Amino acid sequence: MSENKFYNIITYGCQMNEHDSERLAGMLEEMGYQHTEDFANADIILLNTCIIRENAELKVYGKLGELKQYKRENPDLIIGIGGCMMQQDEPVDEVYKKYRHVDLIFGTHNIHHLPDLINKIEETRDRVVEVWDQEEGLIPDLPSQRESEHSAWISIIQGCDNFCTYCIVPYVRGRERSRPVASIADEAARLAEDGVKEITLLGQNVNSYGNDLEKDVSFPKLLEELNKIEKLKRIRFMTSHPRDFSDELLKQIKNLDKVANHIHLPVQSGSNKVLKEMNRGYTREYYIDRVKKIQAEIPNASVSTDFIVGFPGETESDFEKTIELVKELEFDMAYTFIYSPRSGTPAARRDDQVDDQLKKERLNRLMYLQNKISYQKNQKLIGSTQEILVTGASSNDPEVFEGRTSTNKICFIEKREDLIGKIVKVKVDAAKSWTLEATIIEE
Ligand code: SAM
Ligand code: SF4
Repeated sequence: MSENKFYNIITYGCQMNEHDSERLAGMLEEMGYQHTEDFANADIILLNTCIIRENAELKVYGKLGELKQYKRENPDLIIGIGGCMMQQDEPVDEVYKKYRHVDLIFGTHNIHHLPDLINKIEETRDRVVEVWDQEEGLIPDLPSQRESEHSAWISIIQGCDNFCTYCIVPYVRGRERSRPVASIADEAARLAEDGVKEITLLGQNVNSYGNDLEKDVSFPKLLEELNKIEKLKRIRFMTSHPRDFSDELLKQIKNLDKVANHIHLPVQSGSNKVLKEMNRGYTREYYIDRVKKIQAEIPNASVSTDFIVGFPGETESDFEKTIELVKELEFDMAYTFIYSPRSGTPAARRDDQVDDQLKKERLNRLMYLQNKISYQKNQKLIGSTQEILVTGASSNDPEVFEGRTSTNKICFIEKREDLIGKIVKVKVDAAKSWTLEATIIEE
């Protein structure tokens, strides 16, 4: 046991990484470490990295440079770096050679080895590198130090088999491996007993869940199973791949009372030419049909999406197709990204890369349009009744509390400590593009 020892974990990237960091924190706490915000007081600092776009990588190198001073002041400090960046040879070499103050390098497939790796460093004071190329079975159930008492992530499928031509994820997270239903259901039931009201099921493509398990296991069936857990109030999931978003899944979202009315369905582009070159496996027409079906079957559901602008060879008319799609489908929300070439992916090797300035202009046009649509959609909610799970103080203003609607919209309410962790009915009074303001009408 490590007494009076402290750790900090810096996380970059998506919910999977945040969830992995909760597991890293869980293991450190089991070893007796306590969390600290103060780097000068830390005995271990871990960086959990992301490699999805170039700017994510640059931030990591910047942070590593900044941490050098803490190592200088406290030579016993252990600095470790893990996550998706460390599954690639180049960044590992770069960190190992140029950042001599880093003691530990580990990958995404061996996070459960963290205690052994730390013990090894403490015993030998040698630098340790352990990056597995492949997963050795599923990462076992690990203790988790959750950020929130009332919401929790549950990983249901790891890896990705889709190989979209721009994306590095399949190379750093490996092939798809689904977790058995019983293991997920046990974890969800345990969390619910602990007071968790809302779970978010995580996977790069949750719709492929079960393809590698027995014949009758599927994502819609998993939802049905989890919906039976009495103390659980809400089930969210992300991400859905449009190609695999089935009518059966739509039916479950509509019929199962705990499944939230929010679907994140990344489209990436509105141009059939670009979609084909991205290897997305669907056409613009198919995608529009899916979203219109969702909107018809569940009129109050929200649909959000992801876009990449400036994919190699994207012409003005390809980009216009994206703009038209946004106007036609009126998403509630969208994450918009500038295409970032990732070494080792097919799209990065193309010689028709789009000019950086043009990419930025397209991004701005798309964001401007989407902000306007999100604002208009939220304005229509004024006067409506919503159910929100109150999570606590807003990060911007401790005097204001917040929660999320079933449709995943952030909703501000008055400060009420007694409502934290409860689902309450509110009436929406005001709305902006990304947030709502509301009055509590029923507790
Ligand atoms: N598996 C999910 C999917 O297919 O939608 C999400 C994976 S990724 C973590 C989240 C988003 O990052 C993608 O939907 C895509 O829009 C974006 N992304 C992935 N690779 C990118 C790249 N090379 N450049 C810019 N954006 C990228
Ligand atoms: Fe990347 Fe495509 Fe897999 Fe999503 S589905 S993680 S974008 S390869």
